[in-house]
Amino acid sequence: MLTRREFLKLCTAAGLSLPLSSILLDELVKAQVVKPERPPVIWFQASTCTGNTLSFANTVNPYLSNVLLDIIDLKYHPNLTNSYGNQALQTLEQAAEKKDFILVVEGAIPTKDGGIYGASGERNGQPWKIVDAVRYLAERAKYVVAVGVCAVSGGPFAAHPNPTGCKGVYEVIDQPVVNCPGCPCHPDWFVGTLAHILLYKDLPKLDSFNRPVMFYGRLIHDLCDRRSYFENGIFAEYPGDFGCMYKVGCKGPITYADCPVRKWNEYVNWPVEDNSPCIGCANPGFPDASAPFFEHLPSIRLPNITVNANTIGLASGVITAGAIGVHFVGSRLKGRPLGGTIRTPDKHDTGEREVKPKKDKGDK
Ligand code: SF4
Ligand code: SF4
Repeated sequence: MLTRREFLKLCTAAGLSLPLSSILLDELVKAQVVKPERPPVIWFQASTCTGNTLSFANTVNPYLSNVLLDIIDLKYHPNLTNSYGNQALQTLEQAAEKKDFILVVEGAIPTKDGGIYGASGERNGQPWKIVDAVRYLAERAKYVVAVGVCAVSGGPFAAHPNPTGCKGVYEVIDQPVVNCPGCPCHPDWFVGTLAHILLYKDLPKLDSFNRPVMFYGRLIHDLCDRRSYFENGIFAEYPGDFGCMYKVGCKGPITYADCPVRKWNEYVNWPVEDNSPCIGCANPGFPDASAPFFEHLPSIRLPNITVNANTIGLASGVITAGAIGVHFVGSRLKGRPLGGTIRTPDKHDTGEREVKPKKDKGDK
């Protein structure tokens, strides 16, 4: 079995010959931690487009069928398990009452008006509200993993004006949640997190927002192979141009994820390599905090100097990225500089707060 050091090295390595999820799933089989008693997993879908299920299904070696038949015991998934209707809900409840499962939640949780805008079937003749179902399941789970930015912090479902009061899982339950954001979550980010829990019966190291550091510990901007273009002020003027994508809205300087080295669709590509800006989908504030997608980040303030996209190449990269990050965090705490509605990180908060438009002198 891999030592924890080997496991972390593998998870943060670039240029693997096989997708990380494939290697880790093979390790799980070899380590015999999952047979004959495969660990039960309940995958619950809240308000979702099912994109994270599709991303997870992108694991090809072993195929998804091997994962489901050899690695985990998937007790419930609205799309992948073969029961439906009342029978499916009965199976779900029977599995939940054993209190030995890993709960995976995909999708945002509607909370407005008591959560009536999202239900998963019926219980006792009444709609089983998603918020109640998630609380019921989380209370019985050994671990809770939020997969995708919607489950992490509401994502597009919670975008302004958020009419259904959607929130992330951590905001509606009292149990700790491992947050794996992304729109969708990369299969490696999810499978790597699951593999760590299964192999070591323990959570991976998490950051202050409960994201696994092994995947979300580094800034995209620091891993990007266009960084030298940034430093030298060589910017794309339009999406599709070659160069650093900062001026066309790249959110790499404020986004913690390893997309530049991990890449997508089995390590084929990532947006910047295709001359598109990163839109920061792995940020908990996505999408409101990334909007407008094609507008560059606010100008950067350094002591006694203000730089913008035209002069940015003159500034130290490390200080620059830090300054953008500080500005972003400040903006998130105070509200978006251009106004709008943000959700605060308060748990069990019943609504939203209107943020007055703020003039930001340095902004375009
Ligand atoms: S701004 Fe975007 S494209 Fe430019 S170096 Fe940073 S991450 Fe790469
Ligand atoms: S590069 Fe940016 S937009 Fe693309 S998946 Fe990574 S965080 Fe999301």
